[in-house]
Amino acid sequence: MKCEKSQKLFERALEIIPGGVNSPVRACRSVGTEPIFIAHAEGCLVFDEDGNSFIDYIGSWGPMILGHRHPAVIEAISSVLKRGTSFGAPTDLEIKLAEMIIDAVPSIEMVRMVNSGTEATMSAIRLARGFTGRDTIVKFDGCYHGHADALLVEAGSGVATLSIPGSPGVPKSFVAHTLSLPYNDIDCIKKVMGEQGDKIACIIVEPVAGNMGLVAPVDGFLETLRELSEKNGSILIFDEVMTGFRVAHGGAQSLYGISPHVTCLGKIIGGGLPVGAYGGKREIMEHIAPQGPVYQAGTLSGNPLAMSAGIATLTQLMEPGFYETLDEKADHLATGLEKAAENAGIDVMGARIGSMLGLFFNEKSVLNFDDAKASDLEMFSAFYNGMLQKGVYLAPSQFEALFLSAAHNREHIDATIKAAEEVMDGLKHS
Ligand SMILES: *Cc1c(COP(=O)(O)O)cnc(C)c1O
Repeated sequence: MKCEKSQKLFERALEIIPGGVNSPVRACRSVGTEPIFIAHAEGCLVFDEDGNSFIDYIGSWGPMILGHRHPAVIEAISSVLKRGTSFGAPTDLEIKLAEMIIDAVPSIEMVRMVNSGTEATMSAIRLARGFTGRDTIVKFDGCYHGHADALLVEAGSGVATLSIPGSPGVPKSFVAHTLSLPYNDIDCIKKVMGEQGDKIACIIVEPVAGNMGLVAPVDGFLETLRELSEKNGSILIFDEVMTGFRVAHGGAQSLYGISPHVTCLGKIIGGGLPVGAYGGKREIMEHIAPQGPVYQAGTLSGNPLAMSAGIATLTQLMEPGFYETLDEKADHLATGLEKAAENAGIDVMGARIGSMLGLFFNEKSVLNFDDAKASDLEMFSAFYNGMLQKGVYLAPSQFEALFLSAAHNREHIDATIKAAEEVMDGLKHS
């Protein structure tokens, strides 16, 4: 594979952009390679600066559920360009997208637009603290909620251990009110809420975890979070920035039948432009300024280009059978990848929820972050690089999911499975 142009660009980038990238995962360090620079994309394909093409399973890390440059999205953005790109004043587009979100996600009665998933979770936590008058928040190990200070906590494997900041630059005192507990551990959250429930402002969780690889909630986990938050007057926040409009039209909450008080969205609702949103029960959302005292604002929030891309995307998702067709294709891919591993005699734990797929190089099933970390990272790295050489663009980390789009057809998927068979076979014999 030719990659001279990407290499040259990366050298230039390294001089002036920290790590050469504007978001760390793009640097591909964990798989021992350098990033490829994308020139353009179409449907489920991305094309790099050296003229290589790849079947894309990153989909811009989740937003591109329709594939790249979907005609309806391009047309919507183009028509808004004629009106102007930003006014700092309300437009009809914001109402339209809010209505579409509320129609799709019944637990959301009011919604506020922001510019990223990070802003959505950060603001939702401020709201929960302002609403309850409490400081402490509960999160779960291996769940990523963006990079706000209070959420950058790696609590280690201990139960409700001392909160240790996961990054330099985050003062200890900023995370003193963050408890990070093991995902899927029902007894642990019961114990913690039993002891400190009256101090807990909110429990924030990825209802399907997609940032430690793909990990499904075990039976009863989400129900327990709902019950405990009700009982203790805490706010339950589902961070559906990744899963919203992805695992089902109504998100993970509709798939599992559990309603949170507040939901965070992002990624798909921006159709490939920068957007986030948080919404929930009216009595809670009414606490946000200017209606209430909890301050939150944004110069570009509700940006017309982003709103139009979101509206166009969500409109496509309402086509009858959209999710059924996508899920069938995802199932075909998941089954094919798992078979490829099995035939090669390689231990892989596969998972699929809607059009999100997970593939752990692990002999044991993965229920939490510790399990995920016990995966064979070298094997993943070899698999990743083998697939890239064969024209398949996967997320460059064992701890990320694969995303399928409506633009992937049977041929793309079969080509992917064939590549996986060859690569896995090679791994077995190396
Ligand atoms: C991507 C993601 C975020 C952060 O969103 P950004 O737009 O990158 O700030 C937050 N939570 C979850 C679950 C995510 O997947």
